[in-house]
Amino acid sequence: MTAEKNVFQKILDKEINSTIHYEDERCIVISDIHPKAPIHLLVIPRKPLKSFDDVEPEDKDLLFHLMTVGRKQIKKMGAEGYKLQFNVGSKGGQEIFHLHLHVLGWN
Ligand code: AMP
Repeated sequence: MTAEKNVFQKILDKEINSTIHYEDERCIVISDIHPKAPIHLLVIPRKPLKSFDDVEPEDKDLLFHLMTVGRKQIKKMGAEGYKLQFNVGSKGGQEIFHLHLHVLGWN
């Protein structure tokens, strides 16, 4: 039996709709459906890592990519200040166990 896909895997596979701002071979950037700031983006890697806990040294270029893509997109949307956040584990506020970077912006 195959495990049920998480919502972000379904978004990556285009099985469910989302507001996509950017995508490339390594990641996708969407709007969070329940924004916690005037601009709230999620940068989701295609690599199926569950959380920041699963990140290894080999992923350092990927992490840099996620952060710089998030920076570029939020600035493009007019943010003058922003926060980058990984929630890790259910006690850390993580609800979806596919790595994602929250980018919260204010203009
Ligand atoms: P986390 O709590 O760090 O796992 O963050 C998950 C985020 O995904 C939450 O901020 C949700 O609002 C957001 N979210 C859940 N489902 C969707 C969806 N279908 N499209 C966009 N964002 C979503």
